[in-house]
Amino acid sequence: HKIEAATKEDRPFWSFEYFPPKTQQGVVNLYDRMERMYKLGPEFIDVTWGAGGTTSRLTTEICRTSQNVYGLETCMHLTCTNMSVEMIETALRDAKESGIQNILALRGDPPRGEVEWTACENGFAHAVDLVRYIRQHYGDYFCVSVAGYPEGHLDATSPEDDLAHLKNKVDAGADYIVTQLFYDVDMYLDWIERCRAAGIHCPILAGIMPIQSYNGFKRMTTLCKTAIPDHIHADLEPIKEDDQAVKQYGVQLAIDMCSRLRAAGHLGFHFYTLNLEKSTRLILEGLRFVAAPEKLRPLPWNPSLGLKRR
Ligand code: FAD
Repeated sequence: HKIEAATKEDRPFWSFEYFPPKTQQGVVNLYDRMERMYKLGPEFIDVTWGAGGTTSRLTTEICRTSQNVYGLETCMHLTCTNMSVEMIETALRDAKESGIQNILALRGDPPRGEVEWTACENGFAHAVDLVRYIRQHYGDYFCVSVAGYPEGHLDATSPEDDLAHLKNKVDAGADYIVTQLFYDVDMYLDWIERCRAAGIHCPILAGIMPIQSYNGFKRMTTLCKTAIPDHIHADLEPIKEDDQAVKQYGVQLAIDMCSRLRAAGHLGFHFYTLNLEKSTRLILEGLRFVAAPEKLRPLPWNPSLGLKRR
């Protein structure tokens, strides 16, 4: 598959994640954005599956349209939350009939309002079960990816157990890993080393979420209990009321993080776009992964933001 080719060619590659919008107009706007952003050369785009299966119909519809109508290489997220094996089979069959060849196989988060995750009747307990099911019933038709957690998954009994479970997913047939968002590059690189030492050799895409707003950043990192290096807190504090400055900082921070990862030999980057176009584009331009049109030059380095180059 395409990621394998990029890895062999030893070149950086990237993907864009979107979520199903709440309104029909939002969906129409998303198609426009996905099509425009595809010109930035992602290996694929992917669409999330709502907690508790809430957006499953819309996820399937968006994936079908982006793959078939717009011709974008599309990866559909699929979770096991509130999904019986029959429902999973229907989702996979629909995906295949729609020409979708990429699935991100997930256990899923608990439905909104619930804290603990429980398997539904006649459903799967872990993502690995879904990976096994796909391989058993669909052979090599789908390119299958799975989620990885550089800081460990919140339910994990230990970092070692978490890594062992990740390896099980790869051994069960996953082709590559996409990580949870993170902001501590040293910690991430250490985790990559531990993955490789544990015998996980498939491509790993670093989950990059550009900071779009101070409140959004706070909400997301609190929810995921993400470790935030001290300098990021210190940099954001004086500009947190200035939305433009926060966005600009988010772009520079992501460029800085990706540059460090690239310098360490990392190739794959997965952008949590939050359905927004500009930051991701500016980051790819700033990294020189794509050419910057004259009027869209990457933001100049702004030392007043206090971002440390390492
Ligand atoms: P698993 O791999 O099943 O792991 C879940 C937990 O169980 C971990 O703690 C693991 O260590 C443990 N575990 C695994 N196997 C075993 C075993 N055999 N025995 C005991 N313990 C085990 N959520 C959504 O609802 N929709 C989405 O679209 C979505 N997209 C995502 C995309 C990415 C890139 C990432 C990183 C996450 C995404 N999530 C999404 C969130 C994800 O569903 C949650 O993080 C969920 O809690 C775990 O899913 P998983 O597939 O990693 O689960």
